[in-house]
Amino acid sequence: MLKHITCTVCPMSCDVVLKVGEDGKVLSLTGNRCARGKVYATKEHTAPERTLTSIVRVNGGVHPVLPVRTNKPIPKDKLKEGMLVAAKVNANAPITMGDVIVKDFLGLGVDLVATRDL
Ligand code: SF4
Repeated sequence: MLKHITCTVCPMSCDVVLKVGEDGKVLSLTGNRCARGKVYATKEHTAPERTLTSIVRVNGGVHPVLPVRTNKPIPKDKLKEGMLVAAKVNANAPITMGDVIVKDFLGLGVDLVATRDL
């Protein structure tokens, strides 16, 4: 089976084509113009990750919600769970950009941090 993945590492947006075996393993890879594309496409096929961005409620702030993100990417299949958990978080002002709002978010070893002062 052939699988196309657009590399997003740089603006060249190479169309990386993976030949994937029945067991899901990558048999060959073409279309990347550099080694970073090989690393990106292989990871995107085997264990895709994304940085979660969301908002949480805030008590005592000038705004009722605070924008947050994970400080490292998390598995893509954890994004929905992460959004649901973030929707139940209540933080207390004052908050400084970079403050940890939830430590060890979802038990994944990443933190949910504030992306602005409030
Ligand atoms: S494969 Fe290399 S050149 Fe192509 S988009 Fe990815 S990083 Fe850029």
